[in-house]
Amino acid sequence: MHDHAAQAVKPGEAIQGANTSAPRVTCWGTRGSIASPGPNTARYGGNTSCVEIEVGARTLIFDAGTGIRLLGRKLMAQSSVVRTDVFLTHFHWDHIQGFPFFAPLYEPAALLRIMGPEQASVDIQTLFAGQMGPVYFPVPFAAIAAGLQFSHLNEGAWTGGDGIEVHAMRMRHPSFTVGYRIRAGGRTVCYIPDNELVGAQYDVDGGNWRERLIDFVGGADVLFHDAMFTDAEYPPHLGWGHSTFSQALELAAEGAVRRLSFFHHAPERTDDELSAIVDEIRAEAERRGLALEVDAASEGSPIVLGES
Ligand SMILES: [Zn+2]
Ligand SMILES: [Zn+2]
Repeated sequence: MHDHAAQAVKPGEAIQGANTSAPRVTCWGTRGSIASPGPNTARYGGNTSCVEIEVGARTLIFDAGTGIRLLGRKLMAQSSVVRTDVFLTHFHWDHIQGFPFFAPLYEPAALLRIMGPEQASVDIQTLFAGQMGPVYFPVPFAAIAAGLQFSHLNEGAWTGGDGIEVHAMRMRHPSFTVGYRIRAGGRTVCYIPDNELVGAQYDVDGGNWRERLIDFVGGADVLFHDAMFTDAEYPPHLGWGHSTFSQALELAAEGAVRRLSFFHHAPERTDDELSAIVDEIRAEAERRGLALEVDAASEGSPIVLGES
């Protein structure tokens, strides 16, 4: 049931046969909490968390929010022999709800390796099967035709070959939630959709968590980070597990990342509001002389790292 074929690799360690293709990153869902389609969210997108990273012929998927549905259709259009690795940050609905609608699940030739942090001794296959229980969903888990391999990835490192390294670090968010640092083709992407950078108290507190986080995002070509609230909106949401735009900017500055892309947009945030906030934060970054790009993650439009 659990796949232990993946081997740990130390950060920065050279991997034989490393794939030098520039990674291509596509957001299929950028919204937090609940899907929020409509004319006011069409530009940045209304689907919940899902990010695809292509490295050569390899496809890695981060989170299985509603955005994974369209990604599944794209993958099936390319080939029915879908081979992909799916990494979950945690199991809140907005990060798993698209999974039963991921078309390759029902294709016998497909093979999906699914990884995520263990939750209070409940293994991740049980967590996935749970949302497809008969009270919640019409198609039983047993109807899945694809080959599935589940394994746990708490804090630590994973490599699946082709020079791809994925590191997980626990974040400040209710339940056992991780963020990911992906290294491939000489580039680094950090994906941290749910993380309360400053307020409240979490299990990870008490050590050098903040220093470790700055190292974790250090020098990233792109950092996707939770920016659900403005500073004014944040106080009543203390302890909800999310950050503000300015807190994300501070982390990006301390970690000297090249591009900060706000993620996990509040469901009620309109496109125009989000664009105005991005402009404000860009101006703030300029005032501070920070050498980083700032934007908000939007569905579609792949980012090819290494060509910019
Ligand atoms: Zn979330
Ligand atoms: Zn969450």
